[in-house]
Amino acid sequence: MNCPKCATPLTQKYYKGMMEVDACPACRGMWLDFDELDRLEDVAFDDDARKGSLLHHGTGGESLCPACNAALMEFQYRLYDLRLEACPQNHGFWLDAGEDERVLEIMRERAGQIQRKLGVEQQWRQTLSDLHHFLTKN
Ligand SMILES: [Zn+2]
Ligand SMILES: [Zn+2]
Repeated sequence: MNCPKCATPLTQKYYKGMMEVDACPACRGMWLDFDELDRLEDVAFDDDARKGSLLHHGTGGESLCPACNAALMEFQYRLYDLRLEACPQNHGFWLDAGEDERVLEIMRERAGQIQRKLGVEQQWRQTLSDLHHFLTKN
């Protein structure tokens, strides 16, 4: 598979001890495969914390799915102001370089404020799982 942004061949890396992702060595974005996301375990989590955080649909992007070449759809995850692009055929979604780290940083701040017991990596894992569920529902 090639990077949807810069066409460099993607390489596999193990992401935060959770799953294999296809990362671009050039622009450092990464592709999160829905098949891999399927294997994320669901974590018991406070639903209230996630209310109002659903994605809303953006416009169709210019990038193409590395798996099927369909035009990726842009979404925004409001809670973290996270933009991502997802394949309309449910192959996965793309995160630009540093977006995951920015989200983790926001989670760290929130965790500090409300003293969550769960680690930020675990929250991020849950977020990815939520995104997956949301995107595959549509
Ligand atoms: Zn790239
Ligand atoms: Zn696709």
